[in-house]
Amino acid sequence: MYSTEFDYYRAATLAEAHQLLTAHPGAKLLAGGHSLIPLLKLRIASTEAVIDIGRVAELRGLTVDGDSIRIGALTTHAELAASADVTRRAQALAEAAAVTGDPQVRNRGTIGGNIAHADPASDLPIALVALNAQILVTGPRGERAIEAAAFFTGIMSTALGENEIVTAIVVPPGQRGRGSAYVKFKHPASGYAVIGAAASVTVRDGVCASAEVAVGGLVPHVVRAPSVERALLGKPPTADTVAHAAALVADDIRDEVMGDIFASGEYRKATAAVYVKRAIAAAIERASAA
Ligand SMILES: Cc1cc2nc3c(=O)[nH]c(=O)nc-3n(C[C@H](O)[C@H](O)[C@H](O)COP(=O)(O)OP(=O)(O)OC[C@H]3O[C@@H](n4cnc5c(N)ncnc54)[C@H](O)[C@@H]3O)c2cc1C
Repeated sequence: MYSTEFDYYRAATLAEAHQLLTAHPGAKLLAGGHSLIPLLKLRIASTEAVIDIGRVAELRGLTVDGDSIRIGALTTHAELAASADVTRRAQALAEAAAVTGDPQVRNRGTIGGNIAHADPASDLPIALVALNAQILVTGPRGERAIEAAAFFTGIMSTALGENEIVTAIVVPPGQRGRGSAYVKFKHPASGYAVIGAAASVTVRDGVCASAEVAVGGLVPHVVRAPSVERALLGKPPTADTVAHAAALVADDIRDEVMGDIFASGEYRKATAAVYVKRAIAAAIERASAA
C-alpha cells in the first residue's frame, strides 16, 4: 500500500526543524523511518508534511561526561550496541539495543525515534527506565528534561508536548559497583518483546545497596517494580532473595494486564516473574564483578 501524499522537507539544523514544525501544523518528524514509514504506508497514520531530521548534526553523538553518558537522539541501535562506553556504564541499554529488530532495523532505527514512537513492546524504554535516564527535549517552551519513568504514558503516547523534539538521552552515573542487564522474551514472529525486563543493582558490603527494576509487556507502557526493588534492598544477593523479589513483579500493577492471542494476561504475569529474575541475577553478577 502507498501512503497518502505528503510534502517532504529536510531540516539542516535543530532550529530549522522547529521552524518547519511551526510552519506545518501536524507534520511528522522522520529519523530512521523504521516506525513512521510502515505506519504511513499502512495508512494507520497520515500527514501532509514529513520533516527529515536525519542530517541534523546537533542530534548526533555519544559523549561521556564524568560517569554519565549523553546519547544524541539520532544514535542508532547498532551504535548503542557497539559502544564500549554504553556497555561499560549502562550495559542494560547496550543489551536492549543489541536485541532490537534485525540488522537493518538496528542500522537505521534511532533511540530518539524508538522512544518517541513508544511502542508498548519496545526494548529501549525498559532499559532507560531501569537506568533512571533523562530524556532531553526542546520545543516552543524551550528545553526541558523528562524522567524516563514519566516519559512513557501509554500505547504510543509520551509526555512530549506539541512540536517538541527529543534531542538527547542522558544516562546518569550509577553508584560504584552497579551492574545492569536487559533480557526479553521475544515474540517468535515479530521479534518484539512480549515481556522485557531490565535491572540495575548495586551490591555493597554483601547486600543489595540499590535496585531499580523495570518491566514491559504487562501494561501498555514500561513500569517500575517498586515491590521487587524493596524486596532486594538490604538483602544479600542470593538466588533465594532474587526469586522471592521477582515473584512480586505483578503486585504493583493496578491496571488490567494486556493480553492477546499469543500471550494472555496470566501468561504475561508468569513470564514477567521469570524474566525479571533473570535480569536481576545478571545485574547482580555484573555488580559483584564490578
Ligand atoms: C521489522 C522491524 C522490527 C522491529 N523490531 C523491533 C524490536 O524488536 N524492538 C523494538 O524496540 N523496536 C523494533 N522496531 C522498531 C525500531 O526500533 C524503530 O527503528 C524505532 O522504533 C523508531 O526509530 P526510527 O529512527 O526509525 O524512527 P522513525 O520511524 O523515523 O520515527 C518514529 C516516530 O518518532 C518520531 N520521532 C523520530 N525522531 C524523533 C525525535 N528526535 N523527537 C521527537 N519525535 C521523533 C517520528 O515523528 C515518528 O512519529 C522494529 C521495526 C521494524 C521495521
